[in-house]
Amino acid sequence: MTDCLFCTIINGDISVNKIYEDEDVLAFYDIKPRAPYHFLVIPKTHIKTLNNTNDEKLLGKLILIASDITQDLGFADKGYRVVMNCNKQGGQTVYHIHLHCLGGRVLTWPPG
Ligand code: 5GP
Repeated sequence: MTDCLFCTIINGDISVNKIYEDEDVLAFYDIKPRAPYHFLVIPKTHIKTLNNTNDEKLLGKLILIASDITQDLGFADKGYRVVMNCNKQGGQTVYHIHLHCLGGRVLTWPPG
């Protein structure tokens, strides 16, 4: 989708600090990190919100890729959080689904 920021990143027209990529998924560091580790895992297909998909395989893959990356980066055992914001009241600002993964500090609950 041409007017989608994350599709532009997938196309390579905006550069990001990539962590992982395969045919379905891209993971990269968030430009405005809210924790010492803060990366995003996104599907390469444009899906606007979590309400617009029932693709269990793809959604499961986003979570498992995030988990694998926490292992690779060495903070899996200390702990981390994965979260997907949905629509305005859920705090979503980019309308191409993305899983946030945050770690490297104690995370408070509930989030704001
Ligand atoms: P949301 O608020 O939609 O859940 O999360 C969107 C995330 O995308 C935010 O944490 C924001 O910092 C991140 N973000 C927005 N624009 C860019 C960008 O151009 N590059 C990167 N790496 N992250 C971005």
